[in-house]
Amino acid sequence: MSLGFDVRDEDRVANEVGELLSAMIRNACVNDGSETSGHESRNVATLTDFFASCGLPVEVYEPAPGRGSLVARLEGRNPEAPSLLLIGHTDVVPADDANWLHDPFGGELIDGVIWGRGAVDMLNLTASMAAAMRQASLDGWTPEGDITFVASADEECGSRFGAEFLTTQTPHDLRADHVLTEAGGFPLDLGSGPLRPVIVGEKGVHWFKLVVHGVPGHGSQPLRTDNAVVKAAECIRRLAAFTPRVNMTEPWRRFVEDANLAAPLGDALTDPVALDALVETLDDVALARQIHACTHLTIAPTRVDGGTKTNVIPDRVEIELDVRSLPGQNSEDVRGVVIDALGDLASSVTISTTLDDVASVSPIDTALWDLCQQATDLFAPGARNVAYLTVGATDARFFRRSGSVAYGFGMFSDAISFEQFGAMFHGDNERVDTRSLWLSTQLWDFLIRSH
Ligand SMILES: [Zn+2]
Repeated sequence: MSLGFDVRDEDRVANEVGELLSAMIRNACVNDGSETSGHESRNVATLTDFFASCGLPVEVYEPAPGRGSLVARLEGRNPEAPSLLLIGHTDVVPADDANWLHDPFGGELIDGVIWGRGAVDMLNLTASMAAAMRQASLDGWTPEGDITFVASADEECGSRFGAEFLTTQTPHDLRADHVLTEAGGFPLDLGSGPLRPVIVGEKGVHWFKLVVHGVPGHGSQPLRTDNAVVKAAECIRRLAAFTPRVNMTEPWRRFVEDANLAAPLGDALTDPVALDALVETLDDVALARQIHACTHLTIAPTRVDGGTKTNVIPDRVEIELDVRSLPGQNSEDVRGVVIDALGDLASSVTISTTLDDVASVSPIDTALWDLCQQATDLFAPGARNVAYLTVGATDARFFRRSGSVAYGFGMFSDAISFEQFGAMFHGDNERVDTRSLWLSTQLWDFLIRSH
């Protein structure tokens, strides 16, 4: 098959993208959740320099000091043609130097592998997207529909200064028919042949603060007191033990169907009773957690704070919950599940919501889906794309809300397994091989030229 463009030399591309990736890792745009962290404008400056020689117009938005994002667009020749937007975030999560084999902010290239925070999440893709855009511009490529590249800030803490700001508060119209971002395209094999997950949706994120009320008293006389710590312990036990019913969403059904898994795994994944039994006994705990999270609303009690003094019966304990919902569940449904889990204790608890983002999902039978499979046929021959729901959050949700078909994709070599890929997201020793950089650049090259 003719690609319609020259396949670029692997070494040259890997060098170019690798250098850009290393520079972005060294910029250490660490987002610790505070407003003054991130410093993504450093990566914006690096990208601005990277685009300087190619003539591609670049716009920078900085809603708060240091929290910059960049937009670059190849204007299409036909305003009616479908538009494509590639978005990569430029911030990373913190890294503890002591647990790494190499400097997490060194961006070192060692034996064909680049080490550093952001090497897979997701500076690798941001850098390869930028390289493909730059090459298209240097080649004088004019696409049918607009092709836009966005390097976004603040993805690791809700995207308030990044994708949310860009899609709601700038004059730049960032609506696009098709959007691609992280985190798919890694090799996966569950015994039915090579698969490549395409992220078609993401779970909802709902954070709650629960205040458990009691009656204060003296610690020397605990009999028949209303102790908020004791009550909170029971609340936490009930929340942790509460198991919502299996919910087979459309992306899950499609995943199981398309992955064509052999029995007994394949059968168990579509039978609610068998699925719940499977995740309790599966030896591979990481896989069991994934299967469980993809098919259930989950509740994780994550913080507790209460009591004032060793000899005082406490009247107040705060509990924080991280609840993740599935497509089709709204904010009221989620709150109802928390109240149900608390049972009769709900009347002693004040429940407030601190974050409320419902799930988002894109349709699967689309022109973008077909293009992604064509890309897999070219760059990972023999592999089949499968729809997948991510349990994490990405910038795609802001674009799904405005009507885009948005997927998470990329193109990784076989050097990174599904397990490694999962463990490196926010984990120690994050790294990527340069062949994966070349493959992802080829993917974006192909999509920019074929869209
Ligand atoms: Zn990410």
